[in-house]
This record gives sequence, C-alpha cells and structure tokens, in this order.
Amino acid sequence: MQATTHPDASAPTTNSMVAGAMRAARAAQASWAETSPAERTRILRRFHDILYRRRHEVAELITAESGKAYTDAFGVDVLVSLDSARWTAKAAPRFLRSRWQRVDGLMFLRKRVRLERRPLGVIGVISPWNYPFFLPAACVLPALACGNAVLLKPSEFTPRAGAMLGELLHGAGVPAGVLQVVQGDGMVGDAVVRSGVDKVIFTGSARVGRLIAAACAERMIGCSLELGGSDAAIVLADADLQHAADGIAWTRFANAGQTCVAPKRVFVEAGAYDAFIGALSASVTSIRVGDGRNPATEMGPMIHADAAALVRAQREDALARGARVIATAPVPGKPDVATGPSGPAPVEDGRGDAQVAPTVLVDVTDDMRVMREETFGPLLPVTRVADLDEAIARANATPFGLSASVWTRDRARALEAARRLEAGTVMFNDATSVVGMPSVPYGGVKASGMGMLHGVAGLEACVQTLPVVDDRFVGWRQPWWFRYGDRHLAHLEAFGQFAHAPSLMARLRGLPGIIGMLLHRNRNERKSP
Ligand code: NAD
Repeated sequence: MQATTHPDASAPTTNSMVAGAMRAARAAQASWAETSPAERTRILRRFHDILYRRRHEVAELITAESGKAYTDAFGVDVLVSLDSARWTAKAAPRFLRSRWQRVDGLMFLRKRVRLERRPLGVIGVISPWNYPFFLPAACVLPALACGNAVLLKPSEFTPRAGAMLGELLHGAGVPAGVLQVVQGDGMVGDAVVRSGVDKVIFTGSARVGRLIAAACAERMIGCSLELGGSDAAIVLADADLQHAADGIAWTRFANAGQTCVAPKRVFVEAGAYDAFIGALSASVTSIRVGDGRNPATEMGPMIHADAAALVRAQREDALARGARVIATAPVPGKPDVATGPSGPAPVEDGRGDAQVAPTVLVDVTDDMRVMREETFGPLLPVTRVADLDEAIARANATPFGLSASVWTRDRARALEAARRLEAGTVMFNDATSVVGMPSVPYGGVKASGMGMLHGVAGLEACVQTLPVVDDRFVGWRQPWWFRYGDRHLAHLEAFGQFAHAPSLMARLRGLPGIIGMLLHRNRNERKSP
C-alpha cells in the first residue's frame, strides 16, 4: 500500500513560517487547555484506533523513508506508539485530577493544599530520525494530553514520518493550531527553540542537546534532553551465554545499530569470555542484511551515507590501533573490509553507500574511538574483564550514562551492579526494552541528558504543578506574623520544643506555650502602637 501524507506537510518551513506557527499555536492553546481531560483522552483513543487501522501503511512509509527493516518499523515505531497512545489516554486523566491534601507539620495543621496541574503552554518537540514516528509520538502525546499546544520539528531526514504523525493526530481531532509540524534542519530547530515556546523536549545528539540547553537557559525556559549513549553490557561468568549473545546481538544490531538505548560496549567476565564470543559470533554472522522492504531482512542500511562513513571511520580507527574483527555478516553485493567479497545480489534500494556490515570487534583498548565516542551504527566492541569490579569501573569510564545491562543468573550481583552503574536505567538479562514500556520513566544521566520521558515522570514534564494553599480559619492570625518580641519568641520556642525536642516529656513541656499562643494570638487584633 502507498503512504498518503499531504505532499506539502514534509516540505521545509521558513523561519517566518515558524513564527506564524507559534502565533497560531499560542492562540489555539487556551481553548485546548479548556477541553476536558476526558475529551482529550477520547481524541488520543481515536488516534490509537486510526494508527492501528493504518499500521502497515505507516510502517511502510517509515521503511521507505529511513531504509530500516520493515519489521523494526512495524515492531517498534508502530506497536510501541500504539502502546504509548493507550497508556497516555488511560493515565493522563488520573494524573491531571486535582485533589486536596493535608499538609504535614504542626505549624500548618490549619492549612490544606490542592495540587493543580497546569499546562505549560506551547511545547517545542524536536526529534531525531532513528525512530522517526515513535520518538516524536512519545513526546507529543503526553504534551497534548496535558493541554499543551505543540510545535513538532521532525528530523530533516525523516520529514514524512513526522508529517504522518501530524496527519493522524489531526484526523483524530487535534485542532490544526494545537499541533503544528514544522520541517527542516537544525536552523528550523533553532528557530523553534527561540520562537517563544514555553519548553523544549529534545531527543538527539549530546552535541545539539548542549546547544539547546544553552539557548533555553538564555530564555529561562525548561528543557528535557534525551541524548546519546555508550551503554555497557556486563556479561558475568554465570550468565546464560546463549541468551546473552542472542539478546546483545539483537539489541545492538536491530535498526542497523541506530538505537540510543542499546549496548555499545560489552564487558565479559574472564571465565565466560571464550564461550560468549563463540555464541555472539554465531548470532551475528547469521544476521540477514539487505533491503529493509523485504520482510525477512533483519538489518537494513543506515539512514544515510555520512552516518555510515562515521561508523566505518570508527571501525578503521579501532583496526589501526590493534583491534580485530571477530564476527560480521555479509552485505549483499558489497565487499567489506571485514568480510571480503560477499555472495548475495546487491541491494536495489539505492542505499548501497549506507549499508554497513554488522561487526564485532575484540582486542579493543580504551583509547579507541569505539570506546570513547557513541557508535551509532552496527559496530560492537567486546572486552574481557577480570571481575565485576573491573567491569563496573570500565563501564562508568565514559561521559555518557544512558542505560546499562547486566547479564547473569545471580540477582544479588546484578542488583549490586545496578547500584554502582552510572546509568539512567539498568536492565537485567535484556537491554533496550525500557524504551518500549510507556508506563516506565526513562532518561539519561551525565552527558546522556536531563529529565525523563514516559510514565508519570513524562506527564510531569508537560505541566506546571501549582500548589494552591488554603487556610481553614480565615480571620485567625498566623502566629508568626509581626508582633515580634519576647512573648513571640517564647511562642516560637514552645512550637519548636513541642515539634522537635528529643523526648516525649521534653516535647510535652512545650504544650502550655502553644496553648498560651492560641489563646492570646489567634484574633486579628490591631497591633498596639
Ligand atoms: P541530532 O542531534 O543531529 O538531530 C536531532 C534533531 O535536532 C533533528 O531534528 C535536527 O534537525 C535538530 N537540530 C540540529 N541542530 C539543531 C539546533 N542547533 N537547534 C535545534 N535543533 C537542532 O541527532 P540525530 O542524528 O537526528 O539523532 C541521533 C542521536 O540521537 C544519537 O546521538 C542518539 O543516541 C540520540 N537519540 C537519543 C535518544 C534518547 O532517548 N536518549 C533517542 C533517540 C536518539
């Protein structure tokens, strides 16, 4: 089936068009915020149903535009977006409901507080190309559910997937002004950041994340930054090695290695090293590389030739410094430095320059680019370590902190590792899967970002939490208001004693002072001159 987004919806947007979109979004947001959470939920459910009906068309569009394997487009971009829409529709109304609550502490017994969730206004969402439908959806859906308008800027490499997301949401009933898709490169992204938006939710590289954080700081607006990573996988000697090898092969090489939350450096305990390398090599050698449109293809080309060239350069750097290729899979019709001439027919999708063979490297050292930089492609360095202590020290020796995985049957050691790893998420005997769980918050630490997506934390990122403080006894003075003097201090002392003295007897000695204060100071009397 042919995808059917409006042709103009993926055309580049000029800076003045961004300004116009911003004005329209601002104008539309007020009435969107007035619609009930239940009505907004109905719209999200309709979006879910439309996406389900058009699921194959959306997956085909993503594959056609990005080159990725159809199964990855369908299995992640489409199915996880469906889950995300359903969870957001269910969770948002409960999250947005205001409730009165008691205030803890003796001083404030007469107070009560109502926490209101107020939309931020207009949120700028700037997205990358690697999951070009799901990643913007995971940011746009909670933003809309919370009553915000959104300016969405998809990646310049996947404008049609972003336009498709807009089209489906508009078709579900999101007013045109409330969600505006603006298209173009980093200049347009920068124009969004400076357009007057109230917050930016950015997913992309650490380099651009820093620029956006600085621009937001100048404007004193908040930003959530979901950035790159160099996740460690730690394989302990007692692990189920076949499971570890198959799991690490999939999480690293699915989507042609272009997944943010994925193992990019593997550390294997010495006792398991040889057996693990054997199992991993078997798993990687059998990956079917080819045209993403073929349903049997397991690894399509990368997004573009420049991205592939970067990964090849990282591999060449490692080989020049003494690393060895231990496993790779043939790329159809393409002799590769690692594989030599290969057998199958060439890929006919015109993306030959972006095809990179999945490659496992051993004998890697910490000075190699593959250990120092993010490798955003099908390249995996594996290192032997003496024990868990060495694995953790080397895993943490990176500026990044997106996620990490520990592969073992021993939960106690896995938990010990989780406590010591500098990562936003730690997964046991799996990697990557946290990204597919819309109810679970995830985000990076260190250079991998600030803030969280998904779950209640992802909803909280889209609102201002407004405490409304009420007093049950209007007309009764607060005991700490002006009338300073010895008596006032004595009352405060009694308060402190009753609330905080170390023993019950000592605390009770503060009680007469409190009663005295209530008797003498609770009326709105005029201050004597
Ligand atoms: P990128 O940073 O080059 O671009 C991301 C988006 O930012 C694009 O839409 C781009 O046009 C825009 N942009 C570029 N310069 C800008 C500027 N100065 N101001 C505003 N916007 C600007 O990243 P990419 O190459 O598209 O994506 C790959 C990166 O994204 C990898 O590092 C990957 O790890 C990361 N990523 C992180 C997550 C996560 O959840 N942590 C998810 C997916 C991808």
